[in-house]
Amino acid sequence: MTQTIAKSQIPASLQGAIHTQLFIDGKFVNAESGETMATLNPHDNSEIAQIAMAGHADIDKAIHAAQRAYPKWSRMSAMDRGRILLKLADLIEANAEQLAMLESLDTGHPIRDSRILDVPRTAVTYRYFGGMADKFQGDVVPVEAGFLNYVSREPLGVVGQVVPWNFPLMFTSWKMAPALAAGNCVVLKPAEITPLSSLRIAELMAEAGMPDGVVNILPGLGQVAGQYIAEHPEIAKIAFTGSTATGRRIVQASAGNLKKVQLELGGKGANIVFEDAFLPAAINGAAWAIFHNQGQACIAGARLVLHESIAEEFLEKFTALAKSIRLGNPLDPNTEMGPLTSQMHRDRVLSYVDIARQEGGEVLSGGKAPGGDLSAGCYVEPTIVRAKSTHDRIAQEEVFGPFVTVLTFKTDEEALAIANSTEYGLGAGLWTRNLQRAHLMAREIKSGMVWINCYKRVNPGSPFGGVGQSGYGREMGFDVMREYTQAKSVWVNIDAQIVPHYPRPAK
Ligand code: NAP
Ligand code: MG
Repeated sequence: MTQTIAKSQIPASLQGAIHTQLFIDGKFVNAESGETMATLNPHDNSEIAQIAMAGHADIDKAIHAAQRAYPKWSRMSAMDRGRILLKLADLIEANAEQLAMLESLDTGHPIRDSRILDVPRTAVTYRYFGGMADKFQGDVVPVEAGFLNYVSREPLGVVGQVVPWNFPLMFTSWKMAPALAAGNCVVLKPAEITPLSSLRIAELMAEAGMPDGVVNILPGLGQVAGQYIAEHPEIAKIAFTGSTATGRRIVQASAGNLKKVQLELGGKGANIVFEDAFLPAAINGAAWAIFHNQGQACIAGARLVLHESIAEEFLEKFTALAKSIRLGNPLDPNTEMGPLTSQMHRDRVLSYVDIARQEGGEVLSGGKAPGGDLSAGCYVEPTIVRAKSTHDRIAQEEVFGPFVTVLTFKTDEEALAIANSTEYGLGAGLWTRNLQRAHLMAREIKSGMVWINCYKRVNPGSPFGGVGQSGYGREMGFDVMREYTQAKSVWVNIDAQIVPHYPRPAK
């Protein structure tokens, strides 16, 4: 198989960090079929490397390796499992610059974001769950006299994980760290267009002392490898982050063996600015909410919902801020917004500008791909569109790009109705100095996360996930540890001589 790496365009710090094979049973190996696919640099669509594409045979091999590793891994002391994750967190920090470059090269994230967000958040997640491994404990239930009932939390077995391309490094940590801390073995499929950082993490896992077979990373096509993992009878659980449409296919595929399913799907976050908000913070926060990572975030503040009394002033300053955002090569430390992660996705995002115009929406800023040096890449200008109605497609559908839909309201009730008017319910933000209004809105908004006078805050200790078509189950914290374990209730007769059902002396 070909494994071309166009060395000229790759920063020197990445030499040796780019892996192109599948990681199975502690080793990098070719796909059985020999199939490969290019991963591209979205800055100019040049090829970075040809990556092995996993097929069914490779996944079977990975699952069998994970099954062999499971008895020892699941019975290892929790503290020792945690120690490996803590070591991994240290190794991520030791290799921070290289991982940041790798992520930026493959995904288009501005390097300054990769340095201060993606990589540190990844390390923190492994560290948090490394510490969690021996803190997550079972219960003793106060049952009837004479009996002891204890409930232990057991790992599930071999779990499948399918992650998307928008935050590959961070999302692999969100998925793998709790699963491993709980004692599961993992078969993970990164998105076919962004496999590089998860393959490097596989190598660092091995360096941290992870036993062979516990972690297997298999790039491959969603409809081939992802679907096969979701269907596989020997996979105990499938955890998925991605689109709602694929989430539905995963649920159907899971039915064969009734595997557990955890879904983190799309969103259309409402970011509501009340008339009493501190506007400089709200303007800045709203820009961050939608333009960070080029808007490719399930929790993006994709609907900017403004009180009509402040809308004009807000939009004037917000538009000026959007126009000032520096687009450019993600590897340039001055870049504030990079390209979208693929050409196909860029075209999809731009198609929403046409949809907006057809619906009578008003493009206030952006709406195009920039020209000049950036025309070969997957760039889209920061785009602000005022919708005519909350029922419009641009106010309902996930665009997943630097595209924010503006809506206005007169009353708190109207703001709430707009916030709750989509099928999604993942994240929402609100900006106000009225404490009572803030908490009331937080209670009434139908979403898994609410940010008050901030947006997009995440922490490994705080539950992350959605309601409605945004999925079910929670990542992070103790919640996710319950997702990756099952309760076993053990009953012990400690002092009853005879259980009094048939109270006759034994002959
Ligand atoms: P997607 O299809 O949901 O992809 C996410 C992951 O699922 C990828 O690893 C993908 O593999 C895999 N996959 C695809 N089909 C599968 C199947 N039948 N069974 C199992 N796994 C499968 O998302 P997309 O097509 O890349 O993006 C489309 C839209 O989804 C975006 O525009 C956005 O609206 C939404 N999205 C949401 C999130 C989020 O964080 N919630 C993330 C990504 C996308 P391949 O990539 O290799 O096909
Ligand atoms: Mg790429």
